[in-house]
Amino acid sequence: MTEDTKKYWHTSSFGGLVENIRKVKDEKKFNHLMDCLDSSITELETFPAGGDRASAIHIAIEKSKEEWWDKFSKQKTQISCRAGCAFCCHIMVAVTDDEASLLADKVRSGVSIDMEALNRQAAYGEDSSEVWLTKTNNETRCVFLDPEKKQCRIYDSRPASCRNYHVLSPAAQCDKESFPEAKVTICTVPDAEILASAAMNVSKVGSLPAMLLAKL
Ligand code: SF4
Repeated sequence: MTEDTKKYWHTSSFGGLVENIRKVKDEKKFNHLMDCLDSSITELETFPAGGDRASAIHIAIEKSKEEWWDKFSKQKTQISCRAGCAFCCHIMVAVTDDEASLLADKVRSGVSIDMEALNRQAAYGEDSSEVWLTKTNNETRCVFLDPEKKQCRIYDSRPASCRNYHVLSPAAQCDKESFPEAKVTICTVPDAEILASAAMNVSKVGSLPAMLLAKL
């Protein structure tokens, strides 16, 4: 591993890929991962910045996940995430500037959000995952989560961070109020993580509320 790899190390809460790459001891595998990341960054740089680039990445992430689940279908059956389970929609979501543009378009086109909550959560800061952990579920509910149906109002346009969050541990343990000490285990789909990380290399990254508010 060389000093060059540092350019891929993000400080946002979405650091899964970074941590995983750093743990790879096999040099051949490590170099392959870095090559994949490099080529994804190079390809993304040819796209104009904005919501369309975010959508293109989202499509590529879904495709890579489908291919992964085809290969590892047993692992897919172990994922505990279910419709109507939305505890993960109360932790800080990191989004790219491109994704913030996409989400702002959704709001402008009529998706309703709680502006008071957006302002309050944006004030936690752009890199505020530690602050979010000190708040109650009620305070940290994502502005796009329908509280009655417990469904994402912009599911088809949800950020890469949401798309790549697959939980293997019991779903109830994702409730940080009831299980503050529980460890949540995430299933990583490497290609999808590489795509999300590449997107974060070509675009500014910050918390969903702070980045969205700046676009409205
Ligand atoms: S954008 Fe949607 S999926 Fe992501 S945290 Fe918000 S409500 Fe949940």
